Amino acid sequence: MFSNLKNQPVDKIMQVMAKFRADPRPNKIDLGVGVYKNALGVTPVMRAIKQAEHKLWEEQETKAYVGLVGDPAYSDAMIKLVLGDAVAREKIGAAATPGGTGAVRQAFEMIKMATPEARVFVSNPTWPNHISILDYVGLECVQYRYFDAETRSVDFGGMMADLDGLRAGDIVLLHGCCHNPTGANLTLEQFGAVIEVMNAKGAIPMVDIAYQGFGDGLEEDAAATRLVASSVPECLIAASCSKNFGIYRERTGLLMCVSQDAAKTPLTQENLAFLNRQNYSFPPDHGARLVSMILNDDALKAEWMSELEEVRLGMLGLREQLAGELARLTNSDRFNFLREHRGMFSLLGTGPDMVELMREKNGIYMIPDSRMNIAGLNKETVPLLAKAIVEAGI
Ligand code: PMP
Repeated sequence: MFSNLKNQPVDKIMQVMAKFRADPRPNKIDLGVGVYKNALGVTPVMRAIKQAEHKLWEEQETKAYVGLVGDPAYSDAMIKLVLGDAVAREKIGAAATPGGTGAVRQAFEMIKMATPEARVFVSNPTWPNHISILDYVGLECVQYRYFDAETRSVDFGGMMADLDGLRAGDIVLLHGCCHNPTGANLTLEQFGAVIEVMNAKGAIPMVDIAYQGFGDGLEEDAAATRLVASSVPECLIAASCSKNFGIYRERTGLLMCVSQDAAKTPLTQENLAFLNRQNYSFPPDHGARLVSMILNDDALKAEWMSELEEVRLGMLGLREQLAGELARLTNSDRFNFLREHRGMFSLLGTGPDMVELMREKNGIYMIPDSRMNIAGLNKETVPLLAKAIVEAGI
C-alpha cells in the first residue's frame, strides 16, 4: 500500500529552516520561519500565558471532554476580541479549531459542503497553505492581483478588475490585517469598495485573521474584519491565537460563521459541530482555556495587552530602523514601503536568485519569494541586512 504513495512537495519554509540550522556561520540571520522572536531571538511564553497556566494548574480539576465546538466561554471571548460589538452574538455560529489552520480548513470544508461549485478567490500571493488546502479539499481556486512588485504596495486597480469576474456564490478570501506574505494591506476605504463589489456580485467573504495586534493595535487590526462582518449578508471568519498569544504549539483557533439572519445560526452551529466531529472530534482545549481566562480577567488582560503592544512596537521600530538605514545607504526613499507594511512580514519584492545570493554571501535566510520575518531582526542585525540588500542591487 505505502508504495502507492506519491512524494509530497517539500515545504519551502521547512527547507529554509533546515539550511539555516546547518549553516555554521555565527552571524547568520534567520528571517524565514513565521514565528515572533524577541531581540534575543527567543519566542517567549507571554507573561499573561504563564500566569494563566499557573492558575489553571492550581484550579483545574478535570481534563474530561469539553464539547464538540469547544468551551462556549472561549468562543464568546474570541468573538468579542475579533468582532467587538459589530455583530450581535446570536448571528454568529462558532467553533474552536486546532489553530488558525484548523479554522481555515474547516471553513473550506464548509464551503465544499454548502456550495461545492463555488470558486475561492485568493490574493496573489497569499499564505501558501490557503492554496494547498483548497486544492486538497477539492475547491477551485482563482487568484486575484494583489501585490504591485514595483511599489510593493497593493495593486488595488488590478484587484478590483479581477474581482469584477466574481460570480454569485463565489468566495473571496481576505486577510483581516498584516497580510502574509506581503505586509501590504488594504485601507479601510478599500475594504469598503471590496465589500461593495462582493455584495453587488453576490460573492461571500472569508476573512483570515491571524495577526490581530501585530499591526496598528488590537482594535485597529480588527476594524476591517468588523466592517466586513457588519456589511455583508453572510461571511466566514478564521481567527488564530498562535501569534498574538504566542501559543503556536497549543493549536488555538476559532471559526466563525456570521449571518445577518440569526435564524441561520442553529444550522451553522450544527454544521460546525459536525465538521469538528468528523475531523478530530473535540478540539484542543488548553490554549483556548488560557485565552478565555486572559480575556475574562482584567488584570491578566491588561498584562497581555501591554506585552502584545511591546511586541508590536518592537517590530515597528525595526521597520523604521531598516527603512532609515536603506534610505541612508541608497540616498532614496524607495524602501519606504518597509515603513508602510504592517505585521511580521514584508515581501522584499525580489526573485529567488537574489534571496539565494544573500544566503550564500551574507548568511541571511528568507523564503525564496523574498518574504522576510521582521521579528527575526534586532538592532544589531538591521544594518547587516540593509548592507546586504544594497550590495545585492535590490
Ligand atoms: N492564516 C495565515 C494568513 C497565517 O499566516 C497563519 C500562520 N502562519 C495561519 C492562518 C494559521 O496559523 P496557526 O495554524 O499556526 O494558528
